Amino acid sequence: MPTVFSSSSPDTAASIASIFLADPVTLYEARAKRLRALAEAEPSLRGYLSFAALVVEVQHLLNCHDNSAPMPTTTLHVDGVTPPLSMARLLQDKLWQEHLTTLLAALLPHMPAPVQTVLERLRKMDSVQRIAAAHALFNNDTSLTGSDGAPFFWAALSLTAMQRVARSKIVVDDKNGVARHLCPLCGNAPVAGVVHSDGLRYLHCRLCESEWRAARALCSNCESSRNIYEWPLEKQFPAIRAESCGDCRSYLKILHQKDDSNVDAVADDLASLSLDALLENKKFRRSSINPFLFPSA
Ligand SMILES: [Zn+2]
Ligand SMILES: [Zn+2]
Repeated sequence: MPTVFSSSSPDTAASIASIFLADPVTLYEARAKRLRALAEAEPSLRGYLSFAALVVEVQHLLNCHDNSAPMPTTTLHVDGVTPPLSMARLLQDKLWQEHLTTLLAALLPHMPAPVQTVLERLRKMDSVQRIAAAHALFNNDTSLTGSDGAPFFWAALSLTAMQRVARSKIVVDDKNGVARHLCPLCGNAPVAGVVHSDGLRYLHCRLCESEWRAARALCSNCESSRNIYEWPLEKQFPAIRAESCGDCRSYLKILHQKDDSNVDAVADDLASLSLDALLENKKFRRSSINPFLFPSA
C-alpha cells in the first residue's frame, strides 16, 4: 500500500519499517472508494457503507481544506513505553472541535431525518460538553455522545490525530521490539491487523491510522501466544481471517493484502459483519471497535 502509507524510517531496503504513517489525503480517497465498492457488492449493508463513505469523503474535504493552514512543527519520540501523542493534549487542541463543527454542518443536508436529529443534538453541545464526551469516548464510553453520535466525534478526532502525526517529525527509538498491542504513537487499540504484501504483519490504529509491526501468533488484546487460532476463510471474504485468543476470548480480523491489494482496515472490517456474528456465536468478543460501529452505552 505504498501510496497510502509512508514508512517512518525510509532508510535502506534491508531494514524493516516498524511503523507506517498514514497519508490523510490518499487514505481517505482510498477508503471512500473502497466503501463505495463494498456497498455495491454487499446489498444488505449498502445503506450503512454508503453513509460511512460520505463521512470519509467529508473528512477528506476537511483535510484538503486544512492542508494550507500552518501547523505546529513538533517531534514525536516513539519509545514504545509512553505514546507521544497524548489524548489529553489532543482534546485541548481546538482543531478537532473545528473539524467536528464543520463535519456536522457539511453532513446535515445529506442525511435522513433520524440522523439529522443526532447531528442537531451534537451541534448543540458546547465546547466543555464536547471535551467531556470525547474523553469518555476514548474510554469506550458512549454515554455522552450516544452510540449514534460517536462516529462523528471519532471522525473529527481521528482526522486531527492523523494530521498531527502526519505533520510531525517522528523519531522511532523503540527498544521493546514489536510485541505490543496498542498504537505506539497514540496508545489506542487497533481496528484490525493487516498483513502487507511482503508477508509482514502490522496492526492498524483506529485513531491515528498508523500501522505498527506486530508479531504473528500473538494476541493483540492480551499478548498471549498460547491459544491463538486462525479461523478458516469464509468464501465471501477471501482476504479476511479472524484470529481468536482462547485465553482472553477476544478476536481481531486480519486483512491480507496479497489476496486483495485494496483492503482497508476500517472499510473491510465494517463490510464483514457476518464474520463477527460467526465469532460471537463461538463466544468470542471483538477486541476492537470500528470507528463507525460503537456499541451502545
Ligand atoms: Zn494511533
Ligand atoms: Zn488474548
